[in-house]
Amino acid sequence: MMKDYDVELPEATEFLELSAHHQDECAIRSRQTLMQLLSKAWNTYTKLGTVLSFADRFASCFWGCHGREHVIESLVGRTTSSARAAIRLIEFGHYDEALALTRNIGEIGNLMHLFFTSPSEIRRWLDLPKKKQRSEFAPMEVRKALERLGSIVPYDQSSYSKLSEVAIHPNPSTKPQTHNLYTIPTLGGFYQEKGQVVCINELAWAVATVVGPAAKIAILDRSKAEAIVQATIELVESIDTQEEDTQEITGSSDCLFTKSIWVDCNL
Ligand SMILES: [Zn+2]
Repeated sequence: MMKDYDVELPEATEFLELSAHHQDECAIRSRQTLMQLLSKAWNTYTKLGTVLSFADRFASCFWGCHGREHVIESLVGRTTSSARAAIRLIEFGHYDEALALTRNIGEIGNLMHLFFTSPSEIRRWLDLPKKKQRSEFAPMEVRKALERLGSIVPYDQSSYSKLSEVAIHPNPSTKPQTHNLYTIPTLGGFYQEKGQVVCINELAWAVATVVGPAAKIAILDRSKAEAIVQATIELVESIDTQEEDTQEITGSSDCLFTKSIWVDCNL
């Protein structure tokens, strides 16, 4: 049954301002609560910051420019940029959108692993005509190539499909921003602990799959490469794999019942 709330719903720029206000409020809560999640996402979050700092410097030739093709730098640059945006989306309570960006990074992760496992593929990728490049290096083809090589596949069909289903492809069971204990859909700008934890872990893994192998194949001073690889290993080791944990530290799911009228929070 439709409820006739006695609240005037803002429109035009006022709606967008209210939306931004909710996102800002959610970001404040997200940062405050992150520190409570010591055994969960906080450790991973800080290590992710370190890896992204390295990745930023690598992608921008901070340590000097080798003057040759910047293929690896560009892929790491895309990763860094997407990851920084994803972190903001997580803060804003737009968890699905953060996962969509994470999936994009995961595609780069598989490609980077292919280049690491079979370096001649970099040249082939660069030199193929655009149409062939798209078909022969489509995400599914890259995955199959890794399988044929007997390599680790950072994003196998199962994990790739899972991310696609939650964040990209619409399907009959699509429910937006459902990262709570009661599978209640929300529309962003609302803090959800499960969303924060899952998204940070997923993002950490995706970033690691790109930056780790990139450091190994890049034209880079050995000490810098080793430092990046070490930071990436520490990042992966920090990832909490207990994603199905039903315990919440912040009780954010229960807040859904007490703060269900989105427009209640006035500017
Ligand atoms: Zn350069």
